[in-house]
Amino acid sequence: MVPGLTRLRGFVTEVAALLRRTEDEPEILAEGGRLLAGLVAQDDWLPEAYAEPDPERYRQYLLHCDSAQAFSLVSFVWGPGQATPIHDHTVWGLVGVLRGAELSQGFVRTDHGLQAKGGPQRLEAGQVEAVSPRIGDIHRVANAYDDRVSISIHLYGANIGAVQRATYDAQGRPKLFVSGYANAFTPNIWDASSKSA
Ligand code: FE
Repeated sequence: MVPGLTRLRGFVTEVAALLRRTEDEPEILAEGGRLLAGLVAQDDWLPEAYAEPDPERYRQYLLHCDSAQAFSLVSFVWGPGQATPIHDHTVWGLVGVLRGAELSQGFVRTDHGLQAKGGPQRLEAGQVEAVSPRIGDIHRVANAYDDRVSISIHLYGANIGAVQRATYDAQGRPKLFVSGYANAFTPNIWDASSKSA
């Protein structure tokens, strides 16, 4: 197995055990956040194929999805200066920065459309933030750097690339989208032969 994938396998195994143990979202976000912080604490495991930026727009690579589609793990690769539109998630999510840094601006729904919630939050490598419809689900995320790549690892409570959700324009008008993924193949984390790392 590719060195480093044992770390990814360990994370996936622990998340699956957590979701078998509880359906309580605050507990999932707290314990899942702790697990994700452990995963992004070291930047030595993400295979290069899932760290490739695209010159046009940020990329979203699926690293793992369980067979019940109860959770998915994704690497987000931000080219210099790249950003998402304002968007929601509809499910719980945890974002951990692996490399570089990112800026996240939260929004709340009001009678007059969307309103910024405080200022942008800067997440450095190793830091984790949570989103969900319960605690705030709408944000815009950007690479904090305009001269280098940043990468964040996202854990979601669904097969996020297949979830219908929405982007929002400046007036807060929603437009439905399904993100999909940039990759056709996922990392093989299950090779347990003697050659495996
Ligand atoms: Fe997001």
